[in-house]
Amino acid sequence: MSQSNWQELEKKVFLQTIKRVSVTLVRGKGAEAWDDQGREYLDFVSGWATNSLGHCHPVVVKALEEQAKTLIHTSSQFYTVPQLELAQLLVEHSCLDRVFFCNSGAEANEGAVKLARRYGKLRLNGAYEVITTYNSFHGRTLAMTAATGQTKFQEPYTPLPVGFINVEYNNIEAIKRATSEKTCAVLLEPIQAEGGVNIPDDDYLRKVQSWCREKSILLILDEVQTGAGRTGTLFAYEQYGVEPDIMALAKGIGSGVPIGAFLAKEEYSLFSPGEHGSTYGGNPLVCAAAHAALKYMIDHNLPAQAKRIGNYFMTQLESLKQQFDFITDVRGRGLLIALEFSQEIGDKLQLACLDRGLLVNRLKPNAVRFMPPLIITEKEVDKAVGILRDALKEKA
Ligand SMILES: *Cc1c(COP(=O)(O)O)cnc(C)c1O
Repeated sequence: MSQSNWQELEKKVFLQTIKRVSVTLVRGKGAEAWDDQGREYLDFVSGWATNSLGHCHPVVVKALEEQAKTLIHTSSQFYTVPQLELAQLLVEHSCLDRVFFCNSGAEANEGAVKLARRYGKLRLNGAYEVITTYNSFHGRTLAMTAATGQTKFQEPYTPLPVGFINVEYNNIEAIKRATSEKTCAVLLEPIQAEGGVNIPDDDYLRKVQSWCREKSILLILDEVQTGAGRTGTLFAYEQYGVEPDIMALAKGIGSGVPIGAFLAKEEYSLFSPGEHGSTYGGNPLVCAAAHAALKYMIDHNLPAQAKRIGNYFMTQLESLKQQFDFITDVRGRGLLIALEFSQEIGDKLQLACLDRGLLVNRLKPNAVRFMPPLIITEKEVDKAVGILRDALKEKA
C-alpha cells in the first residue's frame, strides 16, 4: 500500500483523536527510523519519551524473543518470574518498597490515587481529595482528566469525577490554601513534561514534601515521563532531595513495550487482596522486556549519560538562541528539553525538521520538545542541531 493509501485508511477506520504527522513509520534502529518510502529520520520524539534505549534495542528484542517462546501471559492469579524480577529491580533502585504493575501511565496514576484514597479512608477520617496542578498531565481516563489541570482536556467531558483540586504549579502557598481536612494527597510531576517542560524552583518539591508530612497527607510523584533516566537520574525526585510516598511510572521503563507501575512505601501499602487489579498488568512478555531494558539502563549508567549528553545538547541550543532572536527560551533536564519561541512556529518547525529528516514534537503553538533516546550520541545531537539550524533559518 502506498503512503497516501495508509493515510486514507486511517481517516476512514480510526476515531479521529489526533492530528498525525503525514509519515508512516515502518522500521527503527537505535535513534533512527524509516518510513514506508524508505526515508530515514533521526528520532528525537522516541515514541513520546518511551523508547529509552532507542528502537529495537538488542537486549529488548532478545528478552521479547525468549519470553515469547516461553510464556506470554497468565493471569495474576499465578506467580510469574519476569514480573517479580522487574519489581525487585525497581524496589532495589528506588526509595519505594512495593510495586503494582498496570499497562499505562494513566492507569498508574489511577492506582496511585486509589491507594491514597485507601489511606484517607483508613487513616484520615475518609479524606479523599487530591491536589494537582494547572498545566499538569496525568493521563486520559476520566479521573486523570480531572487530575490534569488543563481545561482543553476537561471541557469536552464534564461533569468530571469529584475529588481533584487544581492549583498553580511551583507555588507552595497555593497547595497550602487548597489543603483541608478532606485532602489525602498531593499529586505532582517533578517537572511538568507535556505541560511545557516546566521546571519548578529547586526547593519547591522539598517544601511540598514537608507540608505533606506536617499534614499527614501523601506525596504522589507522577514520574511517568521524568522517570527511567530521562532527566539525568534514574528518577527525577533524586535531584530534588525528596522521597515520594507513592510514585507512578510508565513510558521509559518499558523502552517501547506498554507497561505502567506504581510503587509505594511500606507504611502506605494499604491494599488488601481484591481491592485493585489488572488483567494484563505484570504480563510476563512485557515485564521481561522492561526488566532487560531497565537493567541495561542501570548497568550502563544511562541516566548519567542522559545528563551529560543533555547538557551538551542544551549548550548547542543556547548557541542557536544567540543566532535566532525569536528563540526565547531553552530549558530542560537531561534529555527532556524544550525550545520556546516568540512566535507560534511550533507546527511549521516540526514540519521543516521532518522534511530534513528529524522528528521533533510540537509541544505548544510556540514551542517544540526533544526527547531523544538515552543512547543518543554527541554526533547524532550535532546532526540534529544542524538540521534544526537549517529549519530555523527557513522560519527566520
Ligand atoms: C504520558 C504521561 C501520562 C499518561 O501516560 P499514558 O501511558 O498515555 O496513559 C501520565 N503522566 C505523565 C507525566 C505523562 O507524561
